[in-house]
Amino acid sequence: MISHTPQPDPRIIIARDAVAQLVGFCAGMPGVRFTVLSDTNTHRVLGGRIEQALIDAGLPVIGIVLHGAEVIADERYLTRTLVQAPPEPQVFIAAGSGTLTDIARYVSFRTGNPFISAPSAASVDGFLSLIAPLVIGGVKDTYAAQGPLAVFADLTTLAEAPRALTAAGFGDLLGKVTSLADWRLGHLLWDEPYDPEIDERTRRAMNRCIDAAQDIASGSEDGVRLLLEGLLESGLCMRDFGDSRPASGAEHHLSHFWEMQLLKEGRPAILHGAKVGVASALIAQLYDHVRRLSQEDVRELIRRAPAPDPASDVDEIRRVYGEGAEQIERIQAAFLSLTTVQQDQLRQRVVERWPDIQTIARTVPPAETITGLLATAGGPTDWRALGLERRIVEPSLLYGHYLRSRFTVLKLFRLLGLDARLALEHPL
Ligand SMILES: [Zn+2]
Repeated sequence: MISHTPQPDPRIIIARDAVAQLVGFCAGMPGVRFTVLSDTNTHRVLGGRIEQALIDAGLPVIGIVLHGAEVIADERYLTRTLVQAPPEPQVFIAAGSGTLTDIARYVSFRTGNPFISAPSAASVDGFLSLIAPLVIGGVKDTYAAQGPLAVFADLTTLAEAPRALTAAGFGDLLGKVTSLADWRLGHLLWDEPYDPEIDERTRRAMNRCIDAAQDIASGSEDGVRLLLEGLLESGLCMRDFGDSRPASGAEHHLSHFWEMQLLKEGRPAILHGAKVGVASALIAQLYDHVRRLSQEDVRELIRRAPAPDPASDVDEIRRVYGEGAEQIERIQAAFLSLTTVQQDQLRQRVVERWPDIQTIARTVPPAETITGLLATAGGPTDWRALGLERRIVEPSLLYGHYLRSRFTVLKLFRLLGLDARLALEHPL
């Protein structure tokens, strides 16, 4: 985990005149230069307008437009941004969604400059994040960065954003149904830090958007405003808690696994929230299975399950993750170094606390409810629709849990000696 010095909450404006308000905010910083970062698409819908509005206000501004079919937060685009930005102190303005914000967040942080976020779509919950997921040497990892000074979201632009992006934002938020359950599971079984207030805030943000699914799907200004508010609130919850635990569980581990696989095969990326929504429905299948097991069933499963074997886990990690194995072994150190006594205690705990585990499982709706909501929002509802193959999805259910040092329902399945691929048995 990366530790951070606390940052003040940013100013958040979601409005039709957000660009004018952004200019007003910038005018309040005399002597400062502004660098507007966008890509070809976001420059057309937002970045160009911001540049012009700043010029009209007499403020010194340069625009950087990142070209290319697919902008990735990798060495190539980070370097381009760094080279094109002036050497003087400046404020970066990220006119775009997840990737552009990550590039601005990282480059501004490393050059000692602040940045302002101007989202072009309500597509992810990472706008306020203090870390940046970057692809370096073909490996995606998170790097220390900074949150924005302020967020100015132009409501008209958000409402006109491609439906797939809004649906992805909805999918990212919907994923909290399983991430929150996994968080409680981690607290109950693995003593992970937990904060009921943050849990409640995240859940409320998600539920408000679930209730407004139709509005969000229609792309109305009210709908996208609610969605962005929900995504920003989820981001604030992560900041207040200190890491992404409330908002990222097994559904994100599957999504990361798929993403790494696509990257390795040189295939185009899939929208983060689209993957998370579909993954959340798969994880919901596992929680459904948990609900159907009695304490007696579990006692019997644990008795028959093969004893955990760290040496074979390490073999598995090396086989599945290849060059990245060393890093994964470090991430999994706490799990891999359990003594036999500790392993027995953990298994015993699962049996004893099974009624509480079932209470947690009952907070997760049936997978069909999740896919129904994804369909309402106009996003993909299963892994085939995402363009994935079974050969990628099956290993993600078996090995995705290694990607983070967190206890999730995937780890619970391992302890019980159950095969998480049963999530694929009932096609949704
Ligand atoms: Zn996410």
